[in-house]
Amino acid sequence: MSEVILSVRNLSVSYLARRGRVRAVSNVSFELHAGETLAFIGESGCGKSTLNLALIRTLPKTGQIDSGTMIYTRRDGQQIDVLKLNKQEHRRWLWSECSMVFQGALNSLNPVIRISDMIYDTAAAHGIPREDARKQALDLLEKVRLDPQRVFNSYPHELSGGMRQRVLLAISLLLRPQIVIMDEPTTAVDILTQRSILDVLKELRRELNFSVLFISHDLAVAAEIADRIATMYAGEIVEIGPVEEIFYRPRHAYTLALLDAAPRLSAGAEELHSIPGSPPDLIMPPPGCKFHERCAFAVASCHTTPPPLRPTHDAACHLVACTESERVLAAQRKIMRQ
Ligand code: SF4
Repeated sequence: MSEVILSVRNLSVSYLARRGRVRAVSNVSFELHAGETLAFIGESGCGKSTLNLALIRTLPKTGQIDSGTMIYTRRDGQQIDVLKLNKQEHRRWLWSECSMVFQGALNSLNPVIRISDMIYDTAAAHGIPREDARKQALDLLEKVRLDPQRVFNSYPHELSGGMRQRVLLAISLLLRPQIVIMDEPTTAVDILTQRSILDVLKELRRELNFSVLFISHDLAVAAEIADRIATMYAGEIVEIGPVEEIFYRPRHAYTLALLDAAPRLSAGAEELHSIPGSPPDLIMPPPGCKFHERCAFAVASCHTTPPPLRPTHDAACHLVACTESERVLAAQRKIMRQ
């Protein structure tokens, strides 16, 4: 595998709520390699978006990073801990080394400013001359299959949802960052636009060789775009591995349940499955494995001992050795129907 450009270790993030601190992300560790796409999957509220907001240090006021390191390797080999950068250094790091495409493009684009002015503002903040920014932006707008001249001079409301999402993708690449974080970039668009955005993203990745942290609750999209998948549950990464391994040989009972809950085109309504119960209270999380209250395979140790992530294809599950997907899925379905 290619060199590691981002190494996150024991990252924990919490939000202050009336009842106490919500442990939204707990001791998360992972590595991102040059040129790879790592997708985070999991139910709403599992911590995927919080994790990525923490990576770019843009948590809401009630959120805080409690612990962890985030070592980023620049192109020249210099390593920095992003969490230790001061405000100005961090501002420079954003966009030039790591950018983010948020879901819902209309919320990310200023409705009263032309696309060109947003591009000039971003470039000016990083000392890029106006003319260079213009050339670069027109080139990128063409690469994302838009009419560059028209879109460059447009206001966001003059563009469709899919066009705005592609504009965001172009702006995120303006300063040629090594990492682009994408938070559900295809959620708010129709299926054909989604197809075209994914194709554009794959092409750009091949051409510009950046790495992507991709957040999605859509397993089909994640399967198509990712090299590796990380399953998150209750603020923790419970399984991480190559995309084929996760989808064809999942080892964690939660990943199995997620895959089983994904609707299939060929399935009838009676074959739709859900995961029983709801995610745990993250102010007072349960002891042991956080999934044990919903897991069809929980054994005594699951109630008391948190399972550690194991090497290679990692899964934090006490039963990892015996999870042969088909057998386990069949058993899980049977239990869920009871
Ligand atoms: Fe289920 Fe136990 Fe594995 Fe948790 S550790 S997923 S409760 S079998």
